[in-house]
Amino acid sequence: MTSGDKLFGRLLGRTSATPLAPPSVPMPGLHLQLDSQGHVLTIGGTLRPQLATRALGESRPLLRELLCAGSALSIEGSPVDWQRQSLDLDFQAVAGQVLHTRGWIEPEGAGWCLRLQDIGDLLAGRQRAQHREQNHQLACQMSEQLRVCSLPRVPDVFNEHLRSLAQRWRIPCIALALLDEEDQGWRIYSHYAAHDAPDLWQTGQALGTCLDSANGNAPLSLAQARSDNPRLQGIFGDADGLLVPYRDSRGVAAWLLCGFFSGQSQTSERDWLNLTAALAAPLLSRLREQRYHRQLERMEALQGLLGTGWWELLPSTQEIQLAPQLLHNLGADDTPSRQALSQWLELIHPADRQELGSRLHDLQTLGKPLLASVRLQRSDADHNPLWYRVQGQVLGVGDSRRWIGFMLDISDIKNQQTQAAAAHARLDNLIASSPAVIYVQRYVNGALHPAFFSDSLLPLLGWTLADCNHDSLASLIHPDDRDLYFERTRQLLREGAVRSRYRLRDKQGQYHWLLDEAKLLRDDLGLPLEAVGLWLDVTEATLAAEQVKQSEERYRILVEDSPAMICRYRPDLTLTFGNTPLANHLECLPAQLPGLNLGHWLSDEQRQAFVQRIGQLTVEFPVSTAEISLELPGREHAWWVWSDRGVFDEQGRLVEIQAVGRDNTEVRRSQQQLTQSAKMATLGEMATGLAHEINQPLNVMRMAIVNMLKRLSSGDAQADYLTEKLQRIDAQVQRATRVVDHMRVFGRRSEIEQHPFDPSQAVEGMLSLLGEGLRGKGVELRIAPADFTLQVKGYVDQLEQVLINLVVNARDALLSKRHTDPAFRPCIAIHCEHDSRHLRIWVEDNGPGIDPRLLERIFEPFFTTKPIGVGTGLGLSVSYGIVENMGGRLSVANGEHGARFCVELPLI
Ligand code: ADP
Repeated sequence: MTSGDKLFGRLLGRTSATPLAPPSVPMPGLHLQLDSQGHVLTIGGTLRPQLATRALGESRPLLRELLCAGSALSIEGSPVDWQRQSLDLDFQAVAGQVLHTRGWIEPEGAGWCLRLQDIGDLLAGRQRAQHREQNHQLACQMSEQLRVCSLPRVPDVFNEHLRSLAQRWRIPCIALALLDEEDQGWRIYSHYAAHDAPDLWQTGQALGTCLDSANGNAPLSLAQARSDNPRLQGIFGDADGLLVPYRDSRGVAAWLLCGFFSGQSQTSERDWLNLTAALAAPLLSRLREQRYHRQLERMEALQGLLGTGWWELLPSTQEIQLAPQLLHNLGADDTPSRQALSQWLELIHPADRQELGSRLHDLQTLGKPLLASVRLQRSDADHNPLWYRVQGQVLGVGDSRRWIGFMLDISDIKNQQTQAAAAHARLDNLIASSPAVIYVQRYVNGALHPAFFSDSLLPLLGWTLADCNHDSLASLIHPDDRDLYFERTRQLLREGAVRSRYRLRDKQGQYHWLLDEAKLLRDDLGLPLEAVGLWLDVTEATLAAEQVKQSEERYRILVEDSPAMICRYRPDLTLTFGNTPLANHLECLPAQLPGLNLGHWLSDEQRQAFVQRIGQLTVEFPVSTAEISLELPGREHAWWVWSDRGVFDEQGRLVEIQAVGRDNTEVRRSQQQLTQSAKMATLGEMATGLAHEINQPLNVMRMAIVNMLKRLSSGDAQADYLTEKLQRIDAQVQRATRVVDHMRVFGRRSEIEQHPFDPSQAVEGMLSLLGEGLRGKGVELRIAPADFTLQVKGYVDQLEQVLINLVVNARDALLSKRHTDPAFRPCIAIHCEHDSRHLRIWVEDNGPGIDPRLLERIFEPFFTTKPIGVGTGLGLSVSYGIVENMGGRLSVANGEHGARFCVELPLI
C-alpha cells in the first residue's frame, strides 16, 4: 500500500469515526461555513492557518475566491448544487503554496457546512505514481526501441535516449559507462551534454576501475559516494553527480552517470534503477548480439579462408548437418545443409571412405575423438587431390550429448607434404647412391660428437653411426692425418667453417681420401650447437691428381733434360715457355725465355714463311715440320729442324703452338761441304772439258794471228782485214773470260738462304761449262728452247751442279757405249715443261740406260758402276739432296732409248 493510500484510508477512517470536536479544539481538516450563495462565513479547522486568507472580517468572500484558478472552475453554481458529491478543492495557501483538499458539503442550519481534509499527500502520491508510470513507459519505449532498431543504429538510438533523459530530468551531463570486457575497466559508451554544460566525458573514454568499488545496489549521490570512494573525483571533478548502477547476473554491468545533478525528489531510486536497466539491459544485449555477429562473421570469414567449416552428427536420424560455408568449400552448394550421413560419405574418396565411416562410428559409440585426413572424391582428384582434415568430438553428457567437429582443407599442406616426402626420398636416394656422406656432429663441452650420418656411410665405408662415435672416429683416421683432423675440429670451432682432406679407414681396412667440408651452427647467443658437414670420397681424384703430379714431374724432367729444344709460343711467336737447350742456343736462362719473340732470330723472309706455315695449322692437320734457319747471337747461321703442333680452343682458333726443335746446323754444314766438294770434284772432272773450252778460243785466236802475220809479211795487210781479225780475237778472248768467270762463280760456296731465280740460268751455266767439251767429244746436245720464264726458289749454282752431274753421267754412259760401238751417235736432250705448280727439267740420253735392278740404288751415296778412281758415287746422291732441299724431287726412269732423269721443282 502506498503512502497515498494510507493517507486516504486515514482520512476516510477519521471522517466516519471522529465526532465533531468542541470549538476550542480545532477540528482536523478545514471547515467552512457558507451561506446559500456560497459566501464563506467562517473558516475553522486545523488547516486554517495554512490558507492565504487569514481573516475574513466583514468581507465574506465567495468560496471560489479562496480557491486556485483551476479549482475555482470546478464549482459552478451555489452550494445546493455541490452536495452529495466529493469535492476536490485547491486553496491558495500561504507562501504561494496550494492546499489540496477533498470533502463534501452538507446543509447546516440555514447555510452549508463544507468539510474538507488535506489530500496533498494523496495527490503527491498519485503524481508520483503517474510520474513513475511515465518513467516506466519511457523505459519500455527506450528499451523497445533499442531492442528493435538495426544494429548499426544502436549507438544513435541510445544517444537519442540519453538526450531525452537529460532533457526530461534536466541533467546537464549524462553518460553510460560499461564494463569493458577486454581490459576489465570501465569505459564511457555514450554521453550527452547540454549545450551550456561542460563536457565531463568523451565517448570511448576509459575510466579505469574506480567504479568497481562503488556500491552497485542503489543509485549513489556523488556527495555520499565521494567519501567512500575518493577516486570518483576523477570522473566527476568537482561537479555534483548521481551514479545509477545496472546489475545483471554477473554483477554490475553498467553505470548511468549524471553530472551536475543530484537527483530529483519525484524520481525514486527504484525508478532510476529501472530507467538505467531499461537503457543498459537492451544495450548490453544488443552489444552482445553485435559481438556475436562479428564473431560469426569472423568465423565465417575464417572458415572461408581456411576452407573449413563445422559439422554436427544427428544420430537420431543418421543425418549430418554442415555449415553453409563448409558446403560451399566442398563445392556442394546445391546439396542441402542437412543430409544423410551416407550421402555425405559419398563425397569422400573411396580410399578413405570406409576409414572415416568407422571412425565416425567410434565417435558415436565409444566417444573416441575423431581425427582423420581424407581425400575428396573428385574427377581430377588423382592428379591434384583435395585433402581435408576431419576432426570431431563429443560435447555434453547423457541425453544432451552432441557430436560435432570440423573439416579443414589441408590440400596445400598435404600436397606439399607429399611433394616434400617425394623430394626427401629422392634426396635420400641421391645421397645414398652418391660418394658423399652427410653428417651432424653435436657440440658437447668443447668436443664434437657424431650424432648423424646419412645412409650412404654404410655403402661407402662399411661403418655405422655406432662405429664412428666420438671415441672411435679418431682411430679410423690415418695416423699421418690425425693431426690434420684435430686441427680441422679446432678450426671449425674457431672460424665456423672448415674444409680439409684426410684419409679414413673403411671396414675392409682400406683408406679413403675424404674431402671434409663442415659448417658450425650456433644458437642465438653465438654458442656452438652442432656441426653439419659432408664427406666426399675423393680417393680416385686424389690418386689421379697424385699420378698427374708424378707424370707432370716426369714430363718436366723429360722436357728439361731433353737434348731437343722444346718450347711453347703464341701465334705471334712470343715464347711462353722454353727448356734449357733452347735457352742455351739463344744464350739466356730458361726463365728469361717467356716473352721473347722467336721472330727476332729469323730474317724477314724466314719469319714470313714461318708465320705463313703456322697459319696453315688446323684442328685436322695440327702438325707441321720444317727446317728453319736462324741468325743466332754470336754465330753464323743455324739450321733447326722444327716441328710444330697447334693447340686450338673450342672454336678451333689457334691459341698456342708447342714445338720441338733439333739443331741441324752440323748436318747442314756437312751437306754444304759435301755439295761444295762435289762441286769441286765436278770441276776437277771437267778439267779436260774446260781445257777444251779454253783451247777452242785460243786455237781460233792463234789461227787469226798466224793469218794476220802472213798478210803483214806479204805486205797485204789492209786495215779492214786486220780489224776483222782483231775483232774475232776479241770475241774469243771474251768467250774464254766468260768460261773462266763462270768457273769462278760456280766454284764459290752457295748462298746461305734460298732465293728465287730463273732455272734457265742454270741450264745456260751448265752449257757454258760443258757445251764445247761435249761437242768436242762428238756428243750432240739438243736443247729445246723454253718459251716461258718461271721462277723457282733455291740456289742457282746448285741446280747448275745438278744439271752438270746429270749431263756428265749421260756423257759417260754415251761415250762408253760408243767405245763398244763406234757407229753410235751419242745425243743428250734437255727440255723443260711446267704445270701450275711445278717445273720439270728433263735430261735424256740415248745411252744404254740403267740396269733396272740398280734403279733403286743409284741415288745412294758412294754408289757407282765406274772404275775405282773414276767415279765417286756422290754425284746423284748430292744432286738428290740439293733438289730435295729446294722442295723438289729428282727421279729417274729408263726411257725408250736410254736413261731419263727428271728434276721437278715447285714454282713460286
Ligand atoms: P758416279 O758418276 O761417280 O758413278 P753418280 O752418283 O753420278 O756417281 O752415278 C751413279 C751411277 O749411276 C753411275 O755409276 C752409273 O752407273 C749410273 N748412271 C748415272 N747416270 C747414268 C746414265 N745417264 N746412264 C746410265 N747409267 C747412269
